[in-house]
Amino acid sequence: MAGQYCLRCGKRLPEGSLKYVVDIRVYADFDGVLNLPEEDIEEEVHRLMGKIERMDPGELEKDVYQEMAFLLCKGCRDRFVEDPLSRGEGPYPGGEGSSPFIH
Ligand SMILES: [Zn+2]
Repeated sequence: MAGQYCLRCGKRLPEGSLKYVVDIRVYADFDGVLNLPEEDIEEEVHRLMGKIERMDPGELEKDVYQEMAFLLCKGCRDRFVEDPLSRGEGPYPGGEGSSPFIH
């Protein structure tokens, strides 16, 4: 059986060892507001449709929704949980006192 490796540090993760899966879903947040131009809506729709047709469907989908999964060792998992956005600070930076959760 092929061994498993930590995707971050490359450490081998033997069968039965402690390992973690980081499941990430990134999706476009729609707040219900469409920024439409005041005039020439038809022209704008045409422009957008043309743009969408020229885009690669895979790229287009990635823009809206993307899912990733990573296998990590305990050490990398701990580091990830401490600083998931790699900002060099904890997961809930101080300041405004805003909630780390959007919804
Ligand atoms: Zn690791």
